[in-house]
Amino acid sequence: MSDNTIVQKFIEQLVDALKYKNECKESYDEKFNIPFLVSALWQDLMNNCECYNEFCSDLKDYDNHYIIIEDDNYLICKVNVFLYNEIENDDWKCEEELNFLYEIVFGYDERHWGYCKCSPRDKDYRKDKHCCGHGCDWDAPWIMVRKSFLISEHSWSGDEHDYWDFEDKFYANDNEENEKKLLTEREYKIKSLKETIENAQRELKELENL
Ligand SMILES: [Zn+2]
Repeated sequence: MSDNTIVQKFIEQLVDALKYKNECKESYDEKFNIPFLVSALWQDLMNNCECYNEFCSDLKDYDNHYIIIEDDNYLICKVNVFLYNEIENDDWKCEEELNFLYEIVFGYDERHWGYCKCSPRDKDYRKDKHCCGHGCDWDAPWIMVRKSFLISEHSWSGDEHDYWDFEDKFYANDNEENEKKLLTEREYKIKSLKETIENAQRELKELENL
């Protein structure tokens, strides 16, 4: 398969994943603007394909991959691409975990080029956009692609009490952070006591007025 076909196929899968996510979203405001997201990636894959050599050969070398869309913001979201090999045992298949994944971050580039003063008489004016699209303020599509490797995965060994010892040591060594913590705790206590008192007073008044 040529790199071009691989890229084409990947973009199609990404679009399908985004469409599927959009189907699950109820409000129009929350839905992904799919062409906005895909445009910069598509352009980069076409114009800077040499940067994607490793990405393409990884897509080629591994059996399969899945695409996970992480964030649920309108313009900014992150897509993780997990590649894997299928290992066939006697009567079941499993996925061999790899120590890397690709992360694609979608965002925008704020171009403060000037407040739009376009009018229908201007050249290239688009009625639906109310603008000519040349040199006016615009958030342009932006992407960042990373290959990220797993270094380690670890959860605290020990119970919660052991963790508290760590926490105490941390604050004992960092006086400034300790004072901030005490202050926050004090403010929180004051706020919740005030709320308790207000609620009790309201309840008392209600009872007295029966
Ligand atoms: Zn304009």
